[in-house]
Amino acid sequence: MRLEGKVVIVTGSTQGIGKAIAQRCVREGARVVVHGLEEEMGRAVVASCGPGKAVLLVGDLSEPGLCHRLVDLAVSSFGRLDAVVNNAAIVASSNIHTTDAEFLRRLLEVNTIAPFLLIQAALPTLQAARGSVLNIGSVNAYSGEPDLLAYSISKGALMTLTRNLGDSLFRTYGIRVNQINPGWVLTEKEVQRKRAHGLPDDWYRDLPAAYAPAGRILKPEEIAAAAIPWLEDESGPVSGQVLELEQYPFIGRNPPKDTSTIPTRK
Ligand code: NAD
Repeated sequence: MRLEGKVVIVTGSTQGIGKAIAQRCVREGARVVVHGLEEEMGRAVVASCGPGKAVLLVGDLSEPGLCHRLVDLAVSSFGRLDAVVNNAAIVASSNIHTTDAEFLRRLLEVNTIAPFLLIQAALPTLQAARGSVLNIGSVNAYSGEPDLLAYSISKGALMTLTRNLGDSLFRTYGIRVNQINPGWVLTEKEVQRKRAHGLPDDWYRDLPAAYAPAGRILKPEEIAAAAIPWLEDESGPVSGQVLELEQYPFIGRNPPKDTSTIPTRK
């Protein structure tokens, strides 16, 4: 058990990647604060973790004070806090024509400012535990697709936040801050989104080999497995790092030739 005795907050863990991370943390011996917008789904995740292993907080991350409530709940329920996983995000399409200031502010508020505020709120408890932060970004952080403009901006800023705090917080407080940038992951929501765009339910089986050499895209459980090393003590003093999780090298690759019909990635 790699997280025995640890207490972890996972934002956006009522479904998708966050749910898989929360469940995996519990399987590794941790107790978790499950969080998100969907109460019923959150209750189901807590139940799946087993008695005494998880508590739920439902709330919008842009609500004033919510980040402090998450930290307070971890400490009042389990007596400590060892790690924060900033996973929640609004995943939404927009381009230069459809991104207005209000939309951009909303995405920045939830995807970038809330992770910052949660780290700030958790600072004293994480310092006491010599704990760690894992931010879940996206490969879109480096540039992103034209129709993921606001989302990509928010993830780019999150990556700078990770590198900046990964340096200063570790030096000053002993708190490590790292980031995973997932590629394309098959979550329940992603299936629904593609269905809404008129694609057949098995769209992900027919992707160009250049983008899915395995013949499929990543599973939430695979991101969860990769999250554990950043939360456990064995990763030692590693901080300020960003790891891409895709099936091909994301940086420096020449554009493949078979890209004509690829649906939008997150
Ligand atoms: P999802 O849409 O399946 O779940 C999002 C979670 O965030 C839910 O629990 C939801 O309740 C919560 N959330 C959303 N807006 C919120 C708000 N305003 N306040 C509080 N909670 C809120 O998402 P996912 O696909 O599992 O993505 C999880 C993370 O992984 C995100 O940071 C996303 O950017 C990143 N990511 C996903 C993919 C992918 O292909 N699925 C790829 C790269 C990166």
